[in-house]
Amino acid sequence: TAAEPAVSLEGRFAREVAEMALPWQAEEAPDPRLLVLNEPLAAELGLDPAALRGPEGVRLLIGNRVPPGATPVAQAYAGHQFGGYSPRLGDGRALLLGEIVDAHGRLRDIHLKGSGRTPFARGGDGQAVVGPMLREYVVSEAMHALGIPTTRSLAVVATGRPALRERLMPGAVLTRVADSHLRVGSFQYAHAAGDIGLLRRLADHAIARHHGGAAADANPYLALFRAVVAAQARLVARWMLVGFVHGVMNTDNMTISGETIDYGPCAFMEAFDRSAVYSSIDEGGRYAYGNQPLAAEWNLARLAESLLPLLHEDPERAVALAEESLGAFRELYGAAWSAGMRSKLGLPRDADDDAAAPLADELVALLQENRVDHTSFFRNLAEAGRGRADAARAMFPDPAAFDDWTTRWSALDPDPDAMDRVNPVYIPRNHLVEEALAAATEGDMDPFGRLLEAVTRPYDERPGWERYARPAPSDFGDYRTFC
Ligand code: AMP
Ligand code: MG
Ligand code: MG
Repeated sequence: TAAEPAVSLEGRFAREVAEMALPWQAEEAPDPRLLVLNEPLAAELGLDPAALRGPEGVRLLIGNRVPPGATPVAQAYAGHQFGGYSPRLGDGRALLLGEIVDAHGRLRDIHLKGSGRTPFARGGDGQAVVGPMLREYVVSEAMHALGIPTTRSLAVVATGRPALRERLMPGAVLTRVADSHLRVGSFQYAHAAGDIGLLRRLADHAIARHHGGAAADANPYLALFRAVVAAQARLVARWMLVGFVHGVMNTDNMTISGETIDYGPCAFMEAFDRSAVYSSIDEGGRYAYGNQPLAAEWNLARLAESLLPLLHEDPERAVALAEESLGAFRELYGAAWSAGMRSKLGLPRDADDDAAAPLADELVALLQENRVDHTSFFRNLAEAGRGRADAARAMFPDPAAFDDWTTRWSALDPDPDAMDRVNPVYIPRNHLVEEALAAATEGDMDPFGRLLEAVTRPYDERPGWERYARPAPSDFGDYRTFC
């Protein structure tokens, strides 16, 4: 029999920001079954994978067995959803079990999604279902493998409780790991509470956990804001460079740590299109691929507003400081994007910027005009750099513009091997994700396992895995995602 799982959880958030932590219990699962366990992540957290696979381990993973001393809480937060403010969102179907000190001495949140209704549930049923939780698992682990900051997925457990969606679907709990679950919406909540002591404690908690350098600054809270601006500028640049569309960039879905969070209606873009939108509820295209930097900047302005009382005692001065710091976003984003494009194009760091920058911009225009598959283009381009331009060239209905661009690119002496280290072969392509989730919902986890294997080694091209590198067949049609 498996060893009893041993885990020790801190309750740091619950203790330091108690006003925003509502003690609550996960709903008892009638028939819990482990669908997938992230063994390397478990090891990183100092947890024994074999013990987690046993019945008591599975109960631990879904909050039905609470380790001694732990206090699961529902976190309170507010948020702008598609621009409209909700003063009270919070964990309606989620719980923070507590924080664990990982193998590197870092504090990591252990969080449950789909663990039953809480007082923040409003009209919701508190449930999550197998398909979307496995989607979050595979996409977040793919993002991690791509080197993009993200919450991680430790496990998905089917609960044995059906949840009503379009029809009855199998319920599930995702065990999520994050540097924290502090969001822009957490600061909006603390600000709206009108308690500057709470706001300051929340900011101090965020500084201690994520942006320690800010503590030594003459104005630590302004330094915190600047650090979040910088982290989000880098993050969104990474999304853009890999063609990731988050889909629901509400302020409650933007972290203070700079991790990607909340994989609901997200998708990877195939044919390049600035206006690509996949979410069924994003009718205005607010969170379209090309709008993501602007949406991030908008959210950061909401964070700035929430921090104003901490920035300066003179309100006008506080606004001026916030505006000045927010003003850095565009430059930081631009620098991160340009540096990323330069490495995607295999250009040496010291390549002449006057030549490299317009090349990157022209390429984006070419990809847009020709709706080129974003991911395979960059691998094909590396092949062109090795003298085999056919595959890249064939992606352009009129190859003349591509030939002209490639001639100028080649003159900058690109390194194809360096390109293959930063441009993925395998991303979670939408048709493969749907195929894997549909099979899993019917009880077959094999396609999910194979997809996970492909996307967690994204740069390593392997024979026999060709179908994982190809865009969706044309009969897959327009892709729509749901929250
Ligand atoms: P999201 O769109 O996933 O960021 O969620 C927005 C808000 O709705 C959060 O406060 C969630 O906790 C809540 N929520 C989403 N789905 C459910 C559900 N099935 N039951 C209860 N609350 C939910
Ligand atoms: Mg959310
Ligand atoms: Mg969601």
